[in-house]
Amino acid sequence: MHRADDRLKTLEMMIDRIIGKNPHSKEIINAFRPVMVERNRLVETLDLSPGDPGGMDGTRLKSGVPLIKQAALFHSEDPWEDIALSLIPAFKQGFPDLQDDLDTLQGCIKNKTIDLYDYFKGPADDGEKIIEGWSARLNIRVLSFRLFFRTVMWVILHKRARNLAGYLRESEWEKGYCPICGSFPSISMIMEKSGQRWLHCFQCGHEWRFSRVICPYCEHEGQKGMTFFFVEDKKQEAVYTCDQCKRYLLTLNQISPITEMDLDLSALGLAHLDILMRDKGLIPMALPEWNLS
Ligand SMILES: [Zn+2]
Ligand SMILES: [Zn+2]
Repeated sequence: MHRADDRLKTLEMMIDRIIGKNPHSKEIINAFRPVMVERNRLVETLDLSPGDPGGMDGTRLKSGVPLIKQAALFHSEDPWEDIALSLIPAFKQGFPDLQDDLDTLQGCIKNKTIDLYDYFKGPADDGEKIIEGWSARLNIRVLSFRLFFRTVMWVILHKRARNLAGYLRESEWEKGYCPICGSFPSISMIMEKSGQRWLHCFQCGHEWRFSRVICPYCEHEGQKGMTFFFVEDKKQEAVYTCDQCKRYLLTLNQISPITEMDLDLSALGLAHLDILMRDKGLIPMALPEWNLS
């Protein structure tokens, strides 16, 4: 438990530091703060069976099939209710506008009107249809459901990815989407000295190395058509853009490998760059919670 307490204390400190550095993102960071703290607390303390890499096939990985399509990462016996009922108060605190939806959802979970696992048992498109059905039946906004379910998924996948990452070999994965959950990255890091680019998955927390001259989204190769935007004199804060697919990726430049950081928080601190890029007509590679619309 000490480790969990330390981790949460560090997270709170990092949140304050990021707000100090990016005061324009204060409002959005503070809205997500209770949820960020609670989801991290759950990952640290939850008793969950480890991910089973049993069905994992190196050849399929090599051809770009992520683990989530090879093995079941969500199980019906996972503590869906506990996770959901722990997250709802944190959402209420950060997002008072969603209060009514969250009250209804809380009631439906407690009296078992809905089974949360229904959302997770099929492919993502099925989950989306289930949300639309619930939304119409229970009069809860689709956006509230999406925001909420993405966070429940975040908790389970972060917990399982920690274990599964140990079974992946760097040489087996050559794609711009996550080898574990298949999501595109929300942010990348260019490491100082080595110059390597590492991509970060917002959904399961996994990080993997990827070529700097290939677009992670459309796999367009070459320096032409790729741009790095720097903001003012903040050379660490950059955005990578691709002319081919019109996508962008927030990037932290010249990062020391020993820097303690939370990349979801770093991405949130760069929310002003999201606005800048969207104004240019570009689309983010991934759609983390704060970019859902
Ligand atoms: Zn992932
Ligand atoms: Zn591209």
